[in-house]
Amino acid sequence: MHVDAVTRMGQGVLITARIPDNDSACQSRTIPSCRVHSRYRRLLTDVTCGDVPVTIDLRTRRFFCGNRSCSTRTFAEQVPALAQRHARRTVALSTLLEPRPGWAGRAGARLAARLGITVFRSLLIRLLRALPDPAMGQIRVLGPMRTSGLQIG
Ligand SMILES: [Zn+2]
Repeated sequence: MHVDAVTRMGQGVLITARIPDNDSACQSRTIPSCRVHSRYRRLLTDVTCGDVPVTIDLRTRRFFCGNRSCSTRTFAEQVPALAQRHARRTVALSTLLEPRPGWAGRAGARLAARLGITVFRSLLIRLLRALPDPAMGQIRVLGPMRTSGLQIG
């Protein structure tokens, strides 16, 4: 990522940046393309710098895919270390907001505010609900659990 400018934006800082590579490849990663389809601005909320909110204005290019057998006609260049596809938060902020015990609802929102992050409690609950179910071990017994006072048969 190449930083073009750092400017004040309200109470925060705006980092204007771009991806310096001349070409990019779609998810199939077979043939890189340098044929630019269009450009757009991608705003990413980053972790705060001290108590100053940081927003990254990433100038992003959309390319035509160079592989004729690929079903993707156009694709946007990505910086996986910075942000995942379609994300509006950086990887660093997403990692910070990962659900953990006590990190949901109002308590989590208050804790985030102390870290300088403005976040709605509903977002923290949504992130918690989006977690995958824990992997189940091998099932050894399937059926109702017996209570100590109940004898069957
Ligand atoms: Zn492709």
